[in-house]
Formats: sequence, structure tokens, C-alpha cells
Amino acid sequence: ALEGLQHKYRETVLFFPSKGQTCHAYCTFCFRWAQFVGDKEMKIASNDARSLHQHLATHRHVSDLLVTGGDPMVMKTRVLARYLRPLLGNPQLDHVRNIRIGTKALTFWPHRFVNDKDADDLLRLLEDIVRSGRHVAIMAHFNHWQEMRTDVVRKAIRRIRDTGAIIRSQAPLLNHVNNDPNVWARMWSTQVGLGIVPYYMFVERDTGAKCYFEVPLVRCHDVFRQAVQQVSGLGRTVRGPSMSATPGKVEVLGVQRLAGEKVFMLRFLQGRDPDWVGRPFFAKFDAQATWLDELEPAFGESAFFFEDRTAPVLQAV
Ligand code: SF4
Repeated sequence: ALEGLQHKYRETVLFFPSKGQTCHAYCTFCFRWAQFVGDKEMKIASNDARSLHQHLATHRHVSDLLVTGGDPMVMKTRVLARYLRPLLGNPQLDHVRNIRIGTKALTFWPHRFVNDKDADDLLRLLEDIVRSGRHVAIMAHFNHWQEMRTDVVRKAIRRIRDTGAIIRSQAPLLNHVNNDPNVWARMWSTQVGLGIVPYYMFVERDTGAKCYFEVPLVRCHDVFRQAVQQVSGLGRTVRGPSMSATPGKVEVLGVQRLAGEKVFMLRFLQGRDPDWVGRPFFAKFDAQATWLDELEPAFGESAFFFEDRTAPVLQAV
């Protein structure tokens, strides 16, 4: 495997630049602690721009590059540019059309886009990528509408949007933080007003301080449903609640009684096998379950369809 690269799904490469593996502040619920504590075994980071570009050049089916961390926005613009500028004007990398950058800087350090020394250079970089005909998405992590109240964050949002980049928002549902449909509804409405596209509600991952922040799946779905009912169609771009689990991203569609059995309805939003995407499946209802691996198949089945050992799994790169 090439260090610092993950082919999570067929069309997307995740890249963890080594200089972007810290954050402006650390969230206690974060599942990426392995990267921060420098656990060599689990760390996925790379500072080799050339191997990134070589890898992309030889994987013509890759349309999306997701630069993530940590928080890539802790990097100086000139470091980020080393990875991204070579995509421009290189016919061998023309198939990489969509660049996403995952960041919580809009909350923790909106000055990154406003008055940091190289803020203007950063915006120019984003603008140049957009001008090359590519989609640039800032995947912004916001947990609460409170995070969008300051003048500086609003200015940062305006400046990013002026480059032609899109801001999409995503967050985990966290007990003691945003376990309230009204918080989500207000957050999504605020985002729509600011030109941000609500994108994902995640289920808190099964790592880190999960027992403090976790919320049962049934409650996650209730919060999602009650929140989404309060926003207009423009806010209903959001998907979830979704678990980023080992086989893929699994959305909880709801709870139903089917053939006399109370079940969770679920489906893959992303799967290690592309054929799983969009396929609904059912699990026994469990009021306490907080993650996919705590669920059991409904209707007396012995395994979920994706647990079939013969199913093809995308090989590691
Ligand atoms: S900003 Fe994101 S990556 Fe950084 S500590 Fe918080 S959740 Fe983790």
C-alpha cells in the first residue's frame, strides 16, 4: 500500500498529507486520535506529492481527491499548493475532477481564510482550481449553529464562496452537544442562508470517548427526521444519520414493522463494493444499538448480504 493514500471507494482517493495531521484544536469525540498521537502503525500520512500524482496518473477511474487529516487547513498555502497545483494543466491528471478538502477551520480558525498571512494565496489557489473546470468542495465540520455566529466566520464563508468553491457541511450527532432536532434544524437553515450545502449527519463513531457522546441509532433517526421536517427543500440535501463503518457508509432510513417484526431499514450510501450502494436491507430493531456491528439481520437471516464472504471487496492499493 502506498503510504498516505486510501482508496476508500472506487472513484475517491483519500489523501492524508503529513503536514496536515494536526488540528487547530482537538475535539474530545474525535476518532482520529491515532494520527495525532503519532501511532506509527495506524498513521496514514504522506509528504510525497510526487507519489500522490503518480498514483493518480495511473488510476484513471479516480474522479475525486479528498484531502483530509487531521485538518489540511493547518498547512501553509504553499504546502497545500504542492499537492494541488500540479493537477492543473497536466493532461495525465485531467480525470481528477473533484477536489474536496475536509476541515474544521471555519469553526476553530476562520482567520485562515481572512487574515492569515497567506489567506489570500489560499483563496487564489481555490479559485485557480475552480477555473480549471474542477469542482472544489470545502467539507466543513460544524456541530452547532452557534459556530456560525461570528463576523469572522461569515466573512470567511463569503470569501470561500467568492472563489467558486462550494462549502458542504457535515457533523456527528453528539450527546450533550447537538442531540436535539431543533439545533440541527437551525444549523441547516443557517447554513442554507449562508450558501452552505448541508451534506451529512454522522453517527458518532465507535472509537474514542464514545460512551459519553454516543446516541442510540433509533434516537439518531428521530433527531434527523424531526430536524429535516423543519427545513425547506434546500436544506434537505442532507443525508443521514450515516455510519462510516467498515463495509461502507450505512444510512438509517427508519424503523418499521414488516411481516410482524420490528426492524431497522438501512441502506448503503457508499460501499466497498459499488453494487451495494442504494441496496436497502433490514436489521432486527434494537433500542440500544449505537453502531452497525451491534445489529443483527432481521427475518431470521444468518448474515447481512454484505457479510457474504464471496462478495468482492475492493483491494487495497
Ligand atoms: S477538527 Fe476534526 S480531525 Fe480535528 S480533532 Fe476535531 S473532529 Fe478530529
